Amino acid sequence: MAADCVFCKIVDGQIPAEVIAESEHTIAFRDISPKAPVHVLVIPREHEPDIASLAEASPLVAAELLAQSRAIASQEGYEDYNLVFNTGANAGQTVFHAHAHVLAGVDVSKLFLA
Ligand code: 5GP
Ligand code: ZN
Repeated sequence: MAADCVFCKIVDGQIPAEVIAESEHTIAFRDISPKAPVHVLVIPREHEPDIASLAEASPLVAAELLAQSRAIASQEGYEDYNLVFNTGANAGQTVFHAHAHVLAGVDVSKLFLA
């Protein structure tokens, strides 16, 4: 656990969150400021600052996180979804504990990729 990491505190139960799924190495909870009808964050229990660092340190956990993302979208009633990994402050990352944004119910790719 990293000191002063809000997501480590959620993993540890020190900060409440609406947890909707858990797996051996990941936990998923609703974003406090949702940007889509479904906006869930999937995070590793272990602290790594971003998804690339997680993939380098623990590739199986990174893979578990990707698989969990689809399971969560499905659990929320969506087959199709967007996964966003903001990586670095200049790319909008504000919490430096790896996390996937699982977004469903609106095609966010239209906002910036189309
Ligand atoms: P980032 O900008 O780092 O990619 O995403 C961080 C996300 O974490 C934001 O969408 C923000 O709304 C969410 N967030 C920040 N603090 C909390 C919190 O304490 N609880 C929950 N559920 N979400 C949080
Ligand atoms: Zn952390």
